[in-house]
Amino acid sequence: MDLKNRYFTVLDSLPEHVFIFSESGLYIDVYGGEHNATGFDCKPFIGRSLFDVAPPDMAKEFHSYIVAALELNNTQVVHYKFDKQDMINLPAHVPSPQEIWFEGIIKPLPLIENGERTVVWMAKNITERHLLEQRLKMLSEIDELTGIANRRSFTNALSQSLKSHHLCGRKFALLMLDIDRFKRINDSFGHYFGDEALKHAVNSLNSELRVSDYFGRVGGEEFAIILNDLSLDDAVIIAEKLRSKLEKNKFELDNNAIYLTVSIGVTFVTEIDCDGESILARADAAMYHSKKTGRNKVSCHSELIEKNKFSEKWGTFQRESDGNAGSA
Ligand code: GH3
Ligand code: MG
Ligand code: MG
Repeated sequence: MDLKNRYFTVLDSLPEHVFIFSESGLYIDVYGGEHNATGFDCKPFIGRSLFDVAPPDMAKEFHSYIVAALELNNTQVVHYKFDKQDMINLPAHVPSPQEIWFEGIIKPLPLIENGERTVVWMAKNITERHLLEQRLKMLSEIDELTGIANRRSFTNALSQSLKSHHLCGRKFALLMLDIDRFKRINDSFGHYFGDEALKHAVNSLNSELRVSDYFGRVGGEEFAIILNDLSLDDAVIIAEKLRSKLEKNKFELDNNAIYLTVSIGVTFVTEIDCDGESILARADAAMYHSKKTGRNKVSCHSELIEKNKFSEKWGTFQRESDGNAGSA
């Protein structure tokens, strides 16, 4: 075997795909790729342009990576996917795979082909790693029992809301909610019943929220909600709706039926808020005020009350009944 054939044999045995592209996006050579398990051979692309082979937006994006590698004279590392909607033109006999993720490493080559500069593009199938990363990310952000945001992702969302308040004046209210007398429910009906009751509470409350609202579980039976783009008055109306929805929504399991109630604290973002903790602390204080003054009610933090020219320290809103959690 002469030296040239030897090199081609080695290149074609590389487990991952190696493409040589010209700066205009022409496939000059394609090697290897057996381990990428794509089910199709890329060799027929040789001599064709990215713009003939891939959908226009994808071709444009891929071409920009080639240009960046050449213009900046450095290696670009990019992640991209092919799926049924966004797929290069495959031979007729090859079915489109579901979703394949790749890591592409694009490096300028010291070679000129037909007067054009060239890059080498190594593509590694990272689908398994990508899906695992996505799952881990999801698990780290979502509360397993209820499926809503956990405390960590809720506090991140709160920081984001605060940032956009300071940047572009976006207003939001924060609600803190704590289920009333929840310990009694566990003690009377058991922990499994308690878990299911928590899911019921989340579903009831969620059904009253808009897609722009952000709902998180910040403690065992404690929840928080960011209500975006509304006035304080509207936030109080929504809090009252949430309270009233839950108290009327019967939860039944294994011949036991209860009505849960919730105490709610409301606060509104202010110009001087510089971190989420202070807003959470205000909403928490207002929620405890609801607890101390009878439960199953909505209270607003004093600063807001002053802003709204109320004279009381706390604004507590209509309560239809006392905390009756646990009653059948
Ligand atoms: P209050 O009206 O003052 O809030 O009374 P409470 O009983 O709700 O308050 P407390 O903080 O004393 O008790 C909360 C209870 O919530 C205690 C804990 O066992 C229960 N709890 C916390 N997380 C979970 C959970 O994930 N599942 C179940 N079943 N119970 C939980
Ligand atoms: Mg609690
Ligand atoms: Mg409680």
